[in-house]
Amino acid sequence: MADMIYKYSAMNGGKTLNILQTAYSYEANNFKVVIIKSIKDTKGKNAIISRNGMNRVVDILLKENESLLRDKNYKIYYTAKVILVDEVDLLNASQIRELWTIAHLINIPVICYGLKSNFKGEIFGEGVAQIFAIADIVEEVGSTSLCPCGKKAIFNARKINGKFTDQGPIVVIDDGTKKDVEYVPLCSDCYLKYVKIGSTESKKLANLVDKIK
Ligand SMILES: [Zn+2]
Repeated sequence: MADMIYKYSAMNGGKTLNILQTAYSYEANNFKVVIIKSIKDTKGKNAIISRNGMNRVVDILLKENESLLRDKNYKIYYTAKVILVDEVDLLNASQIRELWTIAHLINIPVICYGLKSNFKGEIFGEGVAQIFAIADIVEEVGSTSLCPCGKKAIFNARKINGKFTDQGPIVVIDDGTKKDVEYVPLCSDCYLKYVKIGSTESKKLANLVDKIK
């Protein structure tokens, strides 16, 4: 049977470009590709768009608690050679288990793309926790995500009105409609320096920084 693969990276790590290139490779060989994303991902509406301007309309725009096993969706993907899922971090654990079932019962490879951690530096949510637990293969997308300091980015830091924060709801999509929200991929050093110190853990960290000095 086929595998479920999880390819993760920090933001701006080339995930969308990787999906579009993978879709192109299959379709150039006349294989059917089905692309799925959550309706919660309002960026690009019913399409996925890479930063270099490539885009593609998705085949299934999955609602919050919608089952992938329902007839309407099964009819779309059952003849597919591969299923590609964008921003899998926005799916719930049950939807992840359904994707795993599709790979192992219907024998269609499922390649999922998403983040590892949220802006607080925690595992993104129940969907990501579930996929780390059951994916056959977990790998980092060849990382093009760089911190402004030049090191490899690990964290997805949130800025509100230009200031870093680790407070607020987990999912706030930067879809261009909220001028005050922005995400910045940061390395561990910069995340600690700009987000954690002076934030929720400020007192303990400030004491430690004083000791090191
Ligand atoms: Zn850095």
